[in-house]
Amino acid sequence: MDAVRDGDRWFLRLDKDVDLFSTLEEWAAKEGLKSGHMSGIGALKDVELGFYHLADKHYDRKTFPNEAELLSLDGNLSFVDGKPFFHIHTVLGDEKFQAYGGHLFSAKVAVTCEINFRPFEADIVRTPNEEIGLNLLSFCKAGH
Ligand code: ZN
Repeated sequence: MDAVRDGDRWFLRLDKDVDLFSTLEEWAAKEGLKSGHMSGIGALKDVELGFYHLADKHYDRKTFPNEAELLSLDGNLSFVDGKPFFHIHTVLGDEKFQAYGGHLFSAKVAVTCEINFRPFEADIVRTPNEEIGLNLLSFCKAGH
């Protein structure tokens, strides 16, 4: 992985075979990032996607081992239990030029992954929401 900072923005290159989430989490911790927004393109493999069913507070999970074009990655950084947490949704494309996507649970980089990241200054955390069944963004501790 390589990263360059330009003003308040970052440009990242993740290399073939690395784990997407652990690489991003280690980078965020090393740079002392608090929160932010990200977008990206590239190619992924060994992808696990999720679809959340609110009625029973349950994710359907599906794995896609094959290489896929990363058509769109959109996500954000916050903190859960004191650790960086990336919430990422993605649209992938297969060899038949068909798109699929969902909540991204895990993935490895297949070819390369190019990410733009814009940090925010606020300490933003996620806290459990019983009605929804997920850790939701909590802004009560954010800001200065
Ligand atoms: Zn999600």
